[in-house]
Amino acid sequence: MIKVNNVTKEFYQGQEKTEVLKGVHLHIEEGEFVAIMGPSGSGKSTLLQLLGGLDTPTTGEIQISHKMLNEMKEKDRTVFRRRQIGFVFQNYQLLPNLTVEENIAFPLHADGKLSKEYEKLIHEFIQTVGLEGLESKQAKLLSGGQQQRVAIARALVTNPTVLLADEPTGNLDRVRAEEILTLLSKFHRDYKQTIVMVTHDIFAAGFADRIILFKDGVVDQEISRKDSDYAKYLANFMA
Ligand code: ADP
Ligand code: MG
Repeated sequence: MIKVNNVTKEFYQGQEKTEVLKGVHLHIEEGEFVAIMGPSGSGKSTLLQLLGGLDTPTTGEIQISHKMLNEMKEKDRTVFRRRQIGFVFQNYQLLPNLTVEENIAFPLHADGKLSKEYEKLIHEFIQTVGLEGLESKQAKLLSGGQQQRVAIARALVTNPTVLLADEPTGNLDRVRAEEILTLLSKFHRDYKQTIVMVTHDIFAAGFADRIILFKDGVVDQEISRKDSDYAKYLANFMA
């Protein structure tokens, strides 16, 4: 589903070069729920931006659904991104003056789909993410947890191949975080949604099938729920 082959990413600030990703290799299977963990500044968000086609690697290749992202023309990549990728941004990035319903419908409009046909679908999503009764409320009036639900529904309404979520529980307390993680698990379990979640929280990572640990711009460790020492690994991490 996703193949990342020897990806590097450099940023320039004036003359000064920072190499954030230093040769990342990753394979993510269809239907997998993967957590990418690592300390702040280790390049997690940068990698997610590259996976989402929001930025391009300095060197290396990223393949999603057998399509090479870096070989696409800018215009094709935009279309690919809109159709295949659901992105949940770290600070939700909702349209504050639009309602819950309008925010969720937004990517369908952007894709030229009429909202009339999709009213039922949007309503189903509102139910699934637990926002019934709040359809007409402006996004700016919602709590953090509610905004995160809108962001998830908006990312999934186009039925993307993969959902990319950057710190989806970063701004939430433990109770709200667990609700959001349960919601993501539901999409993974019931709809076989492929999910790549970036988090610095081991509690959140524990909901995934596999944890990929980032350090200094490369994959440092990987552990899968199927591994016999998975529980021990999590316990050590939390200690
Ligand atoms: P993480 O999400 O793991 O906290 P990031 O991917 O956001 O890490 O950032 C990794 C490093 O790359 C940081 O040192 C950050 O300052 C730098 N960085 C990220 N984006 C840019 C950018 N657009 N320009 C310059 N430096 C950047
Ligand atoms: Mg980040």
